[in-house]
Amino acid sequence: MFVPRSLKIKRHANGDGKSCVAKIIKSDPEDLQLDKSRDAPVDALVTEAATPPDRHSSESCPFPSPGGQLAEVHSVSPEQGVKDSHPSEEPVKSFSKTQRWAEPGEPVCVVCGRYGEYICDKTDEDVCSLECKAKHLLQVKEKEEKSKLSNPQKANSEPESPLNASYVYKEHPFILNLQEDQIENLKQQLGILVQGQEVTRPIIDFEHCSFPEVLNHNLKKSGYEVPTPIQMQMIPVGLLGRDILASADTGSGKTAAFLLPVIMRALFESKTPSALILTPTRELAIQIERQAKELMSGLPRMKTVLLVGGLPLPPQLYRLQQQVKVIIATPGRLLDIIKQSSVELCGIKIVVVDEDKKLFKPPVLVFVDCKLGADLLSEAVQKITGLKSISIHSEKSQIERKNILKGLLEGDYEVVVSTGVLGRGLDLISVRLVVNFDMPSSMDEYVHQVGRVGRLGQNGTAITFINNNSKRLFWDIAKRVKPTGSILPPQLLNSPYLHDQKRKEQQKDKQTQNDLVTGANLMDIIRKHDKSNSQK
Ligand code: AMP
Repeated sequence: MFVPRSLKIKRHANGDGKSCVAKIIKSDPEDLQLDKSRDAPVDALVTEAATPPDRHSSESCPFPSPGGQLAEVHSVSPEQGVKDSHPSEEPVKSFSKTQRWAEPGEPVCVVCGRYGEYICDKTDEDVCSLECKAKHLLQVKEKEEKSKLSNPQKANSEPESPLNASYVYKEHPFILNLQEDQIENLKQQLGILVQGQEVTRPIIDFEHCSFPEVLNHNLKKSGYEVPTPIQMQMIPVGLLGRDILASADTGSGKTAAFLLPVIMRALFESKTPSALILTPTRELAIQIERQAKELMSGLPRMKTVLLVGGLPLPPQLYRLQQQVKVIIATPGRLLDIIKQSSVELCGIKIVVVDEDKKLFKPPVLVFVDCKLGADLLSEAVQKITGLKSISIHSEKSQIERKNILKGLLEGDYEVVVSTGVLGRGLDLISVRLVVNFDMPSSMDEYVHQVGRVGRLGQNGTAITFINNNSKRLFWDIAKRVKPTGSILPPQLLNSPYLHDQKRKEQQKDKQTQNDLVTGANLMDIIRKHDKSNSQK
């Protein structure tokens, strides 16, 4: 059967995130039938990753504890949507073609590349439908058969399980036998600078790490033949469980340098989740997860979860509860999740103490041009980003408006979507970003709206969306915004409306100039006047 990832989830009234998530078992008859018929022959051949007893408690973790020593390595170049809801009866998708394509950051079906809505229970891989699950299991079966044929000796033996043994990094005899000056020479040639006490020697080959076969295979498959300099030094230090501060150029292989020790640690750790990778951006998180999945492919129970903003929260929360080993997160989304339900990570409970003022993020004020637009946009923002959002407009009572304003100033809302009601006069000192989602109908209004940021000499930013509805203001906008040093989009600067307005303004200026009586044009004006009088 499938493990659907984005099922509706239930939250108990106690709000405790740990106990709040319950999977709804689907019993779609078609699903069962298809599953049965397609899985039957495959099941017999696919090795089930049986859940082993908790062999490695955190006390018996095969990795030495970090010991508080820091090794510094440099490589120098030469929803809120969690609501009480009724179980969704949405059936598991049978065919790949009925599944949508994945949004950036969403899991991708390993077979067809569409949205990987489900997790295959046999392999932990992402699949989009029953059809692709069956295909995926067939591919796995074929792969296994091929490897049995190419290595018959191995076929008769028990399938290798990397969890059969614990893992302790030991310097490879080849590295041990090198002279100290050979090591120094190597580091110098590769630009490896190391600070810290008793930092272990670099490896020269991935084989020197004695990784499980599957991992060695994945490295080769990803084209990693030899480690890069940052990997040579960081991997053995990381495998020893020491803290590392590392710096190296972009593209030098830093991701795998930290991922490989993380994978090895997580592999032998029974607690879930066992690793947290924090990255500043969603794009980076997506990239890291992709690389992690490549390297973890075929390793048992190595699920990952991506906790990033800009995507619905419930599927991420749901996946987080599925015994994932590695979390890859951006700080904002992680904080939102921890606020709702503290996360236990390798025995360490991460809790946000309270709505600490230090964590206060300045709210975003969004202006739209109608009440319905404010309500709809606020709802959409909350649904899609999980940010706490509210709308304010003239249809809300005075008390409601007062409470919203209070909440805005006290940081209760991350986004406030407003019609013109908040556009003037108020000193919203906590607002640092204004978004004119709809460009106001006059420049006067616009100036007031963007003026809600940067109060009391503070810096602020305004983002304004314009389209043809505000074309009559193009030249005025350009004139107003250009002196602030902001970069204006070429679509605006090249717009024929803008040029037309500019030309008309220049003509008008010229006309005004002509109408002015000066010493230079005085005689001309008198002559013109005389001429028209005599004609009369
Ligand atoms: P990174 O600096 O981690 O962003 O890695 C840059 C690129 O190098 C990525 O596409 C990696 O997949 C690739 N890469 C990382 N380590 C190796 C290696 N040892 N051999 C070949 N390619 C690698």
